[in-house]
Amino acid sequence: AKREGRNQYALYRPELSEQLLHRVKLANLLRSALEQHELSLALQPKIGMDGRQIVGAEALLRWDTAAFGRVPPDVFIPIAEELGLIVPIGHWLVREAATLLDDWHARGWPLTLAINLSARQLHDEALLPVLCESMQRSGASPAALELEVTESILLADADFARARLQALRDAGFRIALDDFGTGYSSLGYLKDLPLDRVKIDRSFISDLEQSPRGRALLSSIAGLCRALSLQTTAEGVETAAQLTLVEAEGIDEVQGYFYYPPLTVEAFNQLLESKLGA
Ligand code: C2E
Ligand code: CA
Ligand code: CA
Ligand code: CA
Repeated sequence: AKREGRNQYALYRPELSEQLLHRVKLANLLRSALEQHELSLALQPKIGMDGRQIVGAEALLRWDTAAFGRVPPDVFIPIAEELGLIVPIGHWLVREAATLLDDWHARGWPLTLAINLSARQLHDEALLPVLCESMQRSGASPAALELEVTESILLADADFARARLQALRDAGFRIALDDFGTGYSSLGYLKDLPLDRVKIDRSFISDLEQSPRGRALLSSIAGLCRALSLQTTAEGVETAAQLTLVEAEGIDEVQGYFYYPPLTVEAFNQLLESKLGA
């Protein structure tokens, strides 16, 4: 067994250093990704349960590299955070978001857009001014932009994070708590954070059909949010049965492959044109 262990070590070591090398290569490429126009947004439609209409979208970052093809956000976002590149990337994303909203509203589509913010971005002093300037320049209302944060923003300094969220909310932006129910969940966050919406994590949705306990949990979360006047979104709805269960709990909004995967901006706009007209 000892010998096997040593062989395994010898076998895995090159792989590990290859992984590290890959990360270093990605980090270097990421530094020029913005100038090279390698970053883009995918838009996943959000469906409102009253009327089952598209009410908006969540913007999800995409990175297409010449060397490695598309690199998943779960891989490059942690690198971007570590290198501080998430800050300029975030500014770019905010400007793109404001432009999209302005375009939609000019076409008469009353849509909202959600973007994701990491802890690093909350610490960025320029975030609020960039948000306000972008919205002013485009003429879109801050109320149409939702900022998604996860509970992890509270880890380092909860008071700081709370104050920053309050300032963003005071400026008119909407705040959503993303991936609710994973990680460090504490019900206290729902009471203490300035929130408009809770996004219930996919892990609560995926086992609804098989699990009575899962249904009981979803029902409790939905009831709690209702009591606290928080809007709710169910993430990762993939089947008609899940949709039925989610709807029965009075969830306000749904996102997931059952309706639509993330789409290119072009495909999203075409979809809206076909539903609402240009
Ligand atoms: P997230 O914010 O929870 O985004 C939802 C993820 O679930 C997306 O993955 C989406 O494609 C996927 N998804 C949507 N519907 C379904 C479904 O029905 N089933 C399944 N299995 N998956 C579904 P994606 O695009 O790979 O993004 C992964 C994560 O990367 C995001 O999770 C978010 O945490 C992060 N991310 C993406 N864009 C940004 C960004 O601009 N800034 C930051 N800070 N993070 C981002
Ligand atoms: Ca999100
Ligand atoms: Ca305008
Ligand atoms: Ca999420």
